[in-house]
Amino acid sequence: MKILSINAGSSSLKFTLYKMPEEEKIVTGQFERIGIKDGSYKIKVNGEKIEKKHDLKDHKVAIDILLKELIDLKIIKDLSEIKAVGHRVVQGGDKYDDSVVITDEVVKDIEIFSSLAPLHNPANLIGYQAVKEKLKDVKHVAIFDTAFHHSIPKVKYTYPLPLEFLDLKVRKYGFHGTSHKYITEYMQKYLNKDKVNLIICHIGNGASITAVKDSKSYDTSMGFTPVSGLMMGTRCGDIDVSIAPYIMDKLNITIDEFMNICNKKSGLLGISEYSSDSRDIEQKVTEQDEKAILATDIYADKVVTYIANYYFALEGKLDAIVFTAGIGENSNTTRKRIIDKLKCIDIDLDEKKNDETRGSFGIITREKSKYKVYVVPTDEEVEIARDTYRLTK
Ligand code: AMP
Repeated sequence: MKILSINAGSSSLKFTLYKMPEEEKIVTGQFERIGIKDGSYKIKVNGEKIEKKHDLKDHKVAIDILLKELIDLKIIKDLSEIKAVGHRVVQGGDKYDDSVVITDEVVKDIEIFSSLAPLHNPANLIGYQAVKEKLKDVKHVAIFDTAFHHSIPKVKYTYPLPLEFLDLKVRKYGFHGTSHKYITEYMQKYLNKDKVNLIICHIGNGASITAVKDSKSYDTSMGFTPVSGLMMGTRCGDIDVSIAPYIMDKLNITIDEFMNICNKKSGLLGISEYSSDSRDIEQKVTEQDEKAILATDIYADKVVTYIANYYFALEGKLDAIVFTAGIGENSNTTRKRIIDKLKCIDIDLDEKKNDETRGSFGIITREKSKYKVYVVPTDEEVEIARDTYRLTK
């Protein structure tokens, strides 16, 4: 059965076509600069990469091209071969604790939850509507980034603000749930255990850490929105809220401008004053650039602080610490900076293994290390395809 997995952003659309349940990736690719000039798309099939420039007026145009390419490239003979479509949706609010077949009610809910994720949910819906128009007769499934975190207990999801704010939907939701769930299932299988306790460090351009207890999310670093928790590529993570009125007054800026700084001009970019990309920063570190060194030191400090927090939350009953996503999978230097600070709980980095493990599975601690640290490449697309298959087969 062929399943299409879709991840629609405001100006991009990533897709993968799977053969399920074999989880065979048939074709994958991405459209960029949708609704902006100089649109383009990439398709990877049979190890070959096709790249084309094409104006992409809107998501509908991108979907038209995608479906036409699938036929032209002889990947499918007919659109009826696609049996179901899975759509990433960032915010499922306090309602959805699992993926769900999309109905009119679900569409309405996604619209309602847009006020909690104005940058993401509307784009996810536009992507859904564009695909739905072409693939009317198949089931479409919403896979929510927040669903995995529904198991977080009230004591951890409630902010110490007036309790009535909970009625206004102010609470911790957590994000990257699809990735944290994928890693949890992977580790369950790898360790051959029904229930696992993990600290998962999903550190890419966006970053979040999750404490997994008995294979369920127990706490996570992102909160009401994805700006909180760790320092990220361009996001600030947790800060004192009083900074907002102070800076708005000092710089004579609006709350929207302040939030834009927190989301797009902070983190690695804000401190290094150079780049949000960890590869650029690491290069600057080798050149002894002081701001880059400060950026990487703060970055590691924030991750260590959350690991320590979750180590205690899990009462030290830990099957593994896992690093994943762009930085977690690839940046041996970032991992070393973090893991070296975990010696006090008898975590012993194997530097050679750490250096050798780039973008692939690996155990990067020594045999004698009390807790093992793993690198596991995440795969959010396959998790989308799995849920879509489970709910539509
Ligand atoms: P993601 O959001 O998961 O795609 O991760 C993006 C981040 O991963 C960026 O900061 C990249 O610099 C970083 N990254 C990707 N590949 C590498 C690599 N080979 N070495 C170091 N960092 C990398």
